[in-house]
This record gives sequence, C-alpha cells and structure tokens, in this order.
Amino acid sequence: MICINCCREVDCLYVEYSNNRIRLTDCTECEEVVDRYVEIDNILLFIDLLLLKPGAYRHLVYNSLELELSKYPDRGSYEEHYHRRSSKLEVKGPFIWHSWFSFQLHRLKDWFVKFDQLNRIWVLITAFEVYLTWVSEERKFHQTRSNELMRQILSKSALGQYLCFAVYCVLDFVVLNNVAHYLLVKIYKWGHKVKYAKYVVSYTILLSYGAKIYPILMLIWPYDSLLTSSIIKIVANVYIIEALKIVTNQSYIDVMILFLFVFLARSLTVKPLLSLVVTHGNFPLCWQYTKAEYHQILQNLLPSTYLKKPNQP
Ligand SMILES: [Zn+2]
Repeated sequence: MICINCCREVDCLYVEYSNNRIRLTDCTECEEVVDRYVEIDNILLFIDLLLLKPGAYRHLVYNSLELELSKYPDRGSYEEHYHRRSSKLEVKGPFIWHSWFSFQLHRLKDWFVKFDQLNRIWVLITAFEVYLTWVSEERKFHQTRSNELMRQILSKSALGQYLCFAVYCVLDFVVLNNVAHYLLVKIYKWGHKVKYAKYVVSYTILLSYGAKIYPILMLIWPYDSLLTSSIIKIVANVYIIEALKIVTNQSYIDVMILFLFVFLARSLTVKPLLSLVVTHGNFPLCWQYTKAEYHQILQNLLPSTYLKKPNQP
C-alpha cells in the first residue's frame, strides 16, 4: 500500500477501533492523509477518475487492489502443494495426473474469484468496444469500399461479424497490456518493489480504457461523424498515457516512447492476426490483406504520389 500523495510505502491506510470507527493514517513523509478515498463515495471516486486525479488512480490500482487480492492467499506451484501433501501423509508416490488436474482447476477457480471485479470491468468495456469498432469499421468501409479484409468480415453473418470484431478487440487489449507491462518492467525497470505489478498495469489500462466507450454517447446524439470519432480515440489514448504516467511515475517522454512502441506492436500484430483468423489460416491471402491494410494506412499518411498501388510492378 502507498500514500496516494507522495507514493511512499505505508503499512496501513486506517486504524479501526472497537466501536467500528476508523481513523485515517497520516503520512510521515508528506504529512497528508495517506488515502482519503477510503472514506469517499464511489460516485465521487468515478468523477475524480474521469478528471484524471492522480490520487483516485493510485487509490484504486495500488491500495484497493492490494486489499482485495490479499483476501485470497496464493496456492503456490503444484510442486510445493505436492511436497506439502506427501510430507503430511508421509508417503512419496508417483506423479498423479488427476491430482495435478484438480489442483489446476482449483487455481483457475481461485483466479476467477480473485479477479472477479477486474474481469467484470474488462467484459463490460470489451462488449461496448466491440460494438463501437463494428459500427465505425462498417461506416468507414461504406465510405471507401477498398478494404478487402473488411469486405470479407462484413460479408459474414451477424454472429460471424460480431465474433471477428470481438477477436480484434481482445487481441488489441492483450497486445497493449502485455507490451506495456514488458516495456515497463524490462526497459524502465519499474515495478520490482510493487507487489502486484502486472495487475497494477492491467488495472490502470482498464480504468483509462473506459474513455474509449465515450463514443457510445455519440450514437445517441447526432455528432457521430468519423472526425469526432477520431478525436474521441485521441482523447482515449491521452487518458491511457496520463494514467500510466500517474501510476508508474515515469516522465512524459518515457511514457510517450512506451506508447509509440505499443502502437507499433498493435499495428504490426493485431490486424495480421485477425486476417489469419478470418482467412482460416490461409497465409498467402492473409499476407495480401495485410499488405493492402498497410498500404491504405500509408496512403492516409503520405501524399499519393509517393506510393504505388500494391499490385503495381
Ligand atoms: Zn505521503
């Protein structure tokens, strides 16, 4: 747990007395209350999250998450479990597959219980994002009619289209989450002292990802042009950058460089993987779609005179 003002590590956020009253702990470093959000209502916390208040993010991703996860002790590895059991029974038997499977099932069950809140937020945001991506890609396709991958996706049944966009959104989130975590830990050497570093990154991205579902309001009000959707996408990315900066305490330049690498990783992997799924593993067709996709991106970025069409010699 940390002080949400100066990020110093603390032992507890409050002291609980026998009459059910609590007293918030004061920080010895900055002399402020360590975490005032312990007493603040969830609605006000939500508003502070939208306003990108650093304390609100730190309260949720460090203190609240650690308190929640500490309720569920880790089972450890199967080897540890097996040795504990063998020494208790004073017998050393061969490796038992059904015991291993039952242990893994229990771990999976633990994971669902432990991360129930995170999973619920992720499912909710993904459900909205799938719908929004579907709407915007369909609209873009009807305007340009040049994207072969989208032509193939949009020729499928409604369920098929939904599943394709769901695969796209899940892949996008997995790449964003893992690349950001890898770069923070390996390149910026962040998180060695943070107990749940991986989940801190995931939770931060999820909370800031919420801004991506703002365009749902634009489907209700008549401002749903491609320009306004692009502006909202930029705002959502600014939210992710700001949230990562607040939580990891890195400089803006470092977070921007990290985001650039994440953007490159997403551009180079997500659409090719989606093409592979849509074409049922047909590599030549997948390569053709990917080339056309990148050509279109370059065409939007550079003047057309610098580019040849993909089939042109
Ligand atoms: Zn402090």
